[in-house]
Amino acid sequence: MRKKVIAGNWKMNKLVGEAEQFVEDVKESVPSSEKVESVVVAPFTHLHALVEKAKGTDLKIGAQNMHAEESGAFTGEVSPEMLKDIGVEYVVLGHSERRELFGETDESVNQKVHAAFKHNLVPIVCVGESDEQRENNQAETIVEDQVKKALKDLTNEQVQDVIIAYEPIWAIGTGKTATAEDANAMCTHIRNVVKAFAGDEAAQAVRIQYGGSVKPANVDEMLGQSDIDGALVGGASLKTDSFLALVEAGT
Ligand code: PEP
Repeated sequence: MRKKVIAGNWKMNKLVGEAEQFVEDVKESVPSSEKVESVVVAPFTHLHALVEKAKGTDLKIGAQNMHAEESGAFTGEVSPEMLKDIGVEYVVLGHSERRELFGETDESVNQKVHAAFKHNLVPIVCVGESDEQRENNQAETIVEDQVKKALKDLTNEQVQDVIIAYEPIWAIGTGKTATAEDANAMCTHIRNVVKAFAGDEAAQAVRIQYGGSVKPANVDEMLGQSDIDGALVGGASLKTDSFLALVEAGT
């Protein structure tokens, strides 16, 4: 049985005081981490304060990106070691906004995934097709290619510990959601792809989230699918009541 993981991606929202208040308000109400992993994925400037606030609770904290190197002349970047040092446990890599707006490539995502493992951070690796690619029937091949490139040269044991977030770009922040059946079909495809290059054990263990306009009203249907093991949620994770409803749905 794969444990569900619900991650709220705040993107570039909230000031640190607001973020601290959010964690204060939800931290005693999130379900036990034995039942579901509940993660807040916050801006870099907030991470230290949020880790401190969430200490000793079932709420985990994640970053939205990082650099692959440990240190050096990379102005404006944050390293995996820095994240680990302050107690961050998860890192989102290759979000479509980073690919589209900041030149993230499959190769840089792969380097970062390796760096995450080196520093014991759990990588949440985002993949997904555009509207045009789906219309041209390329969705499966695009996603397959992204998965293979992102996880290149990992051991089968490492692959087991990756979280893959399938996020069709056309469903992110648009209010358009993939049907649960379509989302599940892609997640099944991803699991088969993992099976082909990392074996059945890794394929059965790897967790695959769906992301794209998930909200309390549709999360149960998504999480009820055979190959969907959680959700990566943007907009609906910003309010305490909907965040709590989402993580509760994962139990
Ligand atoms: C996301 O940011 O990863 C996302 C899925 O956003 P939203 O839930 O707002 O579509």
